[in-house]
Amino acid sequence: MKFSFDRYKKHVEYVLGFIVSYYILILLLTVFYPLEINKEYSTIVLSRNNSLLHAFLTSGDKWRMYTELEEITPELKSAIVFKEDKFFYYHPGINPVSVARATVNNLRKGKRTSGASTITMQVARLLEPKKRTYFNKLKEAFRAIQLEMLLSKDEILQLYLNLVPYGSNIEGVKSASVIYFGKMPDHLSIGEIAALSIIPNRPLSLKPGYNNDYIENERNKWLNRYREAGLFESKFIEDAMKEPLTASRREIPRLAPHLCYRLKTQYPNENSIRSTLNTEIQCQSEKIVKEYIQRLYFQNIKNATAIIIDNATREVLAYIGSADFENDEDGGQVDGIQAVRSPGSTLKPLLYGIAIDKGIITPKMIITDVPVCFAGYEPENYNEKFNGLITIENALAGSLNVPAVKILSEISPQILINKLIEANFYTIKQQKDDLGLSLVLGGCGVTLEELAGLYSAIANQGIYKSLKYKNSQDETITRTILSKESAFMITEILTQLKRPDFPVHWENTMHTPKIAWKTGTSYGRRDAWSIGYNKNYTIGVWLGNFSGEGVPELNGADKATPLLFQLFNSVDYNSPKDWFIIPDELDMRYVCSQSGKIPGEFCNDLIIDYYIPGISSNETCTHLKKVFINADSTISYCTSCLPETGYKTALYPNLAPEIITFFEENNIHYLKVPPHNPGCERMLSGSKPVITSPIHENEYFVNVSDSMEIMLSCHTANDVDNVFWYINKKFYKSATAGVNIFFTPPEGKVEISCSDDKGRNTDIIIYVKHTSF
Ligand SMILES: [Zn+2]
Ligand SMILES: [Zn+2]
Repeated sequence: MKFSFDRYKKHVEYVLGFIVSYYILILLLTVFYPLEINKEYSTIVLSRNNSLLHAFLTSGDKWRMYTELEEITPELKSAIVFKEDKFFYYHPGINPVSVARATVNNLRKGKRTSGASTITMQVARLLEPKKRTYFNKLKEAFRAIQLEMLLSKDEILQLYLNLVPYGSNIEGVKSASVIYFGKMPDHLSIGEIAALSIIPNRPLSLKPGYNNDYIENERNKWLNRYREAGLFESKFIEDAMKEPLTASRREIPRLAPHLCYRLKTQYPNENSIRSTLNTEIQCQSEKIVKEYIQRLYFQNIKNATAIIIDNATREVLAYIGSADFENDEDGGQVDGIQAVRSPGSTLKPLLYGIAIDKGIITPKMIITDVPVCFAGYEPENYNEKFNGLITIENALAGSLNVPAVKILSEISPQILINKLIEANFYTIKQQKDDLGLSLVLGGCGVTLEELAGLYSAIANQGIYKSLKYKNSQDETITRTILSKESAFMITEILTQLKRPDFPVHWENTMHTPKIAWKTGTSYGRRDAWSIGYNKNYTIGVWLGNFSGEGVPELNGADKATPLLFQLFNSVDYNSPKDWFIIPDELDMRYVCSQSGKIPGEFCNDLIIDYYIPGISSNETCTHLKKVFINADSTISYCTSCLPETGYKTALYPNLAPEIITFFEENNIHYLKVPPHNPGCERMLSGSKPVITSPIHENEYFVNVSDSMEIMLSCHTANDVDNVFWYINKKFYKSATAGVNIFFTPPEGKVEISCSDDKGRNTDIIIYVKHTSF
């Protein structure tokens, strides 16, 4: 017993010794010949539902797509293993039985056959293609053993499926599956799997699309073998046999090219990038935009971009970077969504929203829309007309420029700039030191992506979150840009349909989606914008030419908005069922219709307005003032000259100087306070205005090419509220006492008069020479 045990022990030692030295040898060889698996794969970009949007050739012009482990279905796995290497799961990389058999065959027939190749050895060969010599065969065997030591069986099979050639420049089962069957490998039928398993051995004679009947025959032979081996249930084999082979080389999809290129650049190390795009919405929108521009092309409007955002998740569902990617002539490959353009009026809703949160304005508040000069900057409205007095809501809906600049100058451009930076406007961050009041009229550069992100924040109760393009993108920022009350008021204003920027020709002919939207047209009519939202989606649209060429017909209302409406109708035809609800903290109150302020003692025309308790201004209306006048309403009195009898009181509009100027200039009738009692002691004792600039009888050189202006400035008595300036006896402007105004005088002798609101007057003369240097 003892003897035989020793002998047995010795055998064990031999075997163990052999295995140990075998592994030591392989490890030693690995140090000198390390295994390198660095194959480049085609980048593919997928939709949110994992359908293929776009694929890119490798740098060697191959279609070599990376098959994920989970895409290798049990059916695919067993069919391939059955066909290529039945003992794949049992051998250590080389199959000694088939090596022996092949060697015998080779010796007997005197030629080399490849029968001994395991899947692992094939992988070794695909990783390092070499001439077929005995030495290389040996090297392959070594590599195969190495592979087996370093990788799992599934990983080796995955490598095989990724590299196996399918003829031409197609490599790997995923590329073949996409190109020949238009589907991902995990969606292949058993018939398709069988067809794909036989092509790699004879890629020239079995070329799908050329001799499909022959391939079908060959496929069915293998399906029969599958059946005999009991690989699949008989009924599946039956179905597969009947399945006609429709394979042929098809075009790889090229959807959303701009975003796909962008993602490929952004994630250079990912073979497969899953985007947030919705294939159906992307397809439809691409088509709508392309056809829309085809109709406008003859007007010289050659490009358009659009972006569609899911408001709940901020995921981008459609990304149309140009009207036609294939159109080289008009820069189709330019990604217009990231192009920096002038926003026109599209930043106004944010400005009004900020002003609401600062308590300065509410929707029914009255603001003046008259020509004004803000430190040398004189904004004009789009139609070059002014409205005098207008509500905040109409000023925003009508996209008036003067009220917007007025509000911006009140809150200061810096506040708006900071908000834009908070809302991730990278472009604004870059330009922040060069921006002024014109910012809100488009005097800056932004991208469609930034604007759409901003509007999506307004649609989400004022909360900004960064947009998502990639499925697993988690680095997001969240910032409150507007209060939910303010966001709601802005939405209400932007939802009204009675507005000057409603597209002509649209009204009665087509379905108008219920959305909040704002248009914009940049200076020189180079950019037309329309950005809208409902509860579900935000859609941004830009139209123009990538060359920057302006077009007289281009504007946000008539050109960009119809496209916005079409896109909304295509993604969300009947959305309004789920509209925004009034936030709890938003309240309503009665205000005076003449000012939008809390009704004062004389206000009797009241209307309802939204306000934010504790935030919105509680200023009382003073739109009227009480004045003592004589019986014929020809003289007004103050308390010092009020007679004992024979007077009455009357209410007169309490107008701001700029509005008086506007009414006077435009011959608009308004109720004027009668001149003050000429016998009034205060009138006689109070000093008349003293003009401090310009200086009486001085000569002034005015550089007209530089639009130089002269300041009008005066001192007044304490009882004066407003002064009125006249140039050469013609009314020029009124001003609050103590406020300087500017003017460009005509050439020659100029008479300047200043009267105060008590009727006291001063005249001076200056001499003006125009220069142009
Ligand atoms: Zn009032
Ligand atoms: Zn008086």
